[in-house]
Amino acid sequence: METTGMDHYLEAAKRAAQWHRDYREQMKQCRFDTIATHGIYSMQEALDFNQGSIVEPVYMSTSQAYRDADEMEAALGYRIPTWCYSRIANPTMYYLEGVLALLDGYGSDVETSCIATSSGMAAIQSAVDPFLVVDPRNPKAPMNFVATAQVYGGTYQQFSMRKHHDRDVEWRKVCHSTDLAEWESLIDENTRFLYGEMPSNPCQAFFDLEKVAALAHKYGLPLIIDSTVATPALLRPIEHGADIVVQSVTKSLATSGFGISGAVISRKNLVSNIDNPEMKADFATWLKLLPNRDNGPNISPMNAVLALNDIRTIRMRMDHMSRSTMKVAQYLEQHRHVEKVDYLGLETDALHSLASDYMYLVDSEYDDQYGTKVNRYGHLMSFNIKGDAKQTRDVFNAFTRIWRATDLGRIKSVATIPAISTHAQQGEEGRKLACIPANLIRLCIGVEHPDDIIKDIDQALAVLDGRKVKVTTPEYSAGGASSATLRNRQA
Ligand SMILES: *Cc1c(COP(=O)(O)O)cnc(C)c1O
Repeated sequence: METTGMDHYLEAAKRAAQWHRDYREQMKQCRFDTIATHGIYSMQEALDFNQGSIVEPVYMSTSQAYRDADEMEAALGYRIPTWCYSRIANPTMYYLEGVLALLDGYGSDVETSCIATSSGMAAIQSAVDPFLVVDPRNPKAPMNFVATAQVYGGTYQQFSMRKHHDRDVEWRKVCHSTDLAEWESLIDENTRFLYGEMPSNPCQAFFDLEKVAALAHKYGLPLIIDSTVATPALLRPIEHGADIVVQSVTKSLATSGFGISGAVISRKNLVSNIDNPEMKADFATWLKLLPNRDNGPNISPMNAVLALNDIRTIRMRMDHMSRSTMKVAQYLEQHRHVEKVDYLGLETDALHSLASDYMYLVDSEYDDQYGTKVNRYGHLMSFNIKGDAKQTRDVFNAFTRIWRATDLGRIKSVATIPAISTHAQQGEEGRKLACIPANLIRLCIGVEHPDDIIKDIDQALAVLDGRKVKVTTPEYSAGGASSATLRNRQA
């Protein structure tokens, strides 16, 4: 058929869309590791467009050029596959989004899509804000959302300060997330979504995902899950009924620690009481093309490729690090200076059996080493010192191999005291709700040999027997941020 002008581009777009759909379908037939390694970057794409490069290219470019006005018009009207401008899209982001959509959708027949963001917090903001809009049928109605109290410190701040305090959007806190009746008692006609973090950071809260998803849907609400701690290698909430998953890609997915990034993964045709058919049909794509275009919380192509590169090995790392963490947890559990260990992998953990229904090493049944489904619980754990805040700091100060940093998911072991770091801003009462006492140390175990990590913890705990620790004198560079004005922000 002879085509001219805009039609010419629309025809080419149809062919490209079909070709990409077919390739995604092919990849869906592969096992998790194959998808994680190749994602949606194909040989055909490499040879036709990227000089045969076997790794995804980084398009360090703000914008895309067009052949003529027709192509530009079609592109900006989103009628052809295009990336226009890197705030909206970019080929390198596209490869990251493609692989994350497939991994979080793995093992289910649900269709998923993904948008990458500049951080995990931006992912949470992007995932929840579209539901916190004025209802034209009842514009004066107050809005609320129901979310677990045990959430990451940054999420606690976003929900309590940026939503509840700044915008009068009520955060109804679920304090006992295993109690379905408590979830249900908080829902009313002004509720916009249910939200949970599982396992939670740092205290490993966990709930029955399928039951909470069914409850959300009974009320016509979406269930949003922060699945950062598990990663898709151990848990894929969409398979169990969740509508939207948020990931702080910064953490275990991009384990090397080169940069901050996040992602929102959604199921097609999600449930919501908001009257917006386009949003519901394909939430992540809608978010990308409209709200996030306007708000601009996009990822950079460099961070996207760094994340992409680490994601290839997520399954084997989560397996290895989970096994090491189990060893460390078992060691700590029998230590005389330790009051309590929170790790879902321990049989003594109250939520062990519930977590065991959900947290499996993906594809372990196809693995020669295992040949059956095996439970894995991730590499985040926490423990309480038998002692006060001061003694907790003493033990913390004595680590020589484990880094003191407010970070997790790293290939290197990292520890923090949540009460003075990640969960400092929410105050005593907020910490009580989130179960963060002053004697709690959070540990995230890397890929070092676990014997060396246990040795380091062992010598650190010896401080409680009277061993002295030397602290080095600081020399600060001027590069950091510090502000006295922020000190009283919670006043
Ligand atoms: C770190 C973290 C976040 C926030 O992610 P950033 O990438 O740091 O913005 C959100 N949720 C959980 C569970 C986290 O651990």
